[in-house]
Amino acid sequence: MKQFGYSINPDRQIDYDLTDKSLLSFIVSFEPSLLSCISCGTCTATCTAGHFTDFNIRRVHTLLRRGEITTLKKEIQKCMLCGKCQLACPAGVNLRNLIRSIHVAVEKFNV
Ligand code: SF4
Ligand code: SF4
Repeated sequence: MKQFGYSINPDRQIDYDLTDKSLLSFIVSFEPSLLSCISCGTCTATCTAGHFTDFNIRRVHTLLRRGEITTLKKEIQKCMLCGKCQLACPAGVNLRNLIRSIHVAVEKFNV
């Protein structure tokens, strides 16, 4: 087979109507500002942890919406709760509280 110097990622397509949204609903009840997110990526661009690791705060939103809890649990360990992303967010999403809420939810649901 001809080598083109790149590989094709496996398909990650899911049906959002079938994902488990219980954790997302629980977290939105703690931090409703999450619903104001416009996915602009400013939080990711300013993230302190993102400068030193592969952490991507916007990916946290995606994992939450996709119900990918195992990866989400690993991801949130990288956040230092410095709050810089929150200062930069144009939609006023309280990201630090979002991360803290995920920690609480993960313990509560024991997932
Ligand atoms: S900066 Fe705010 S609005 Fe933009 S992606 Fe991050 S949380 Fe969403
Ligand atoms: S609070 Fe977490 S996600 Fe936000 S800038 Fe700091 S390390 Fe990044």
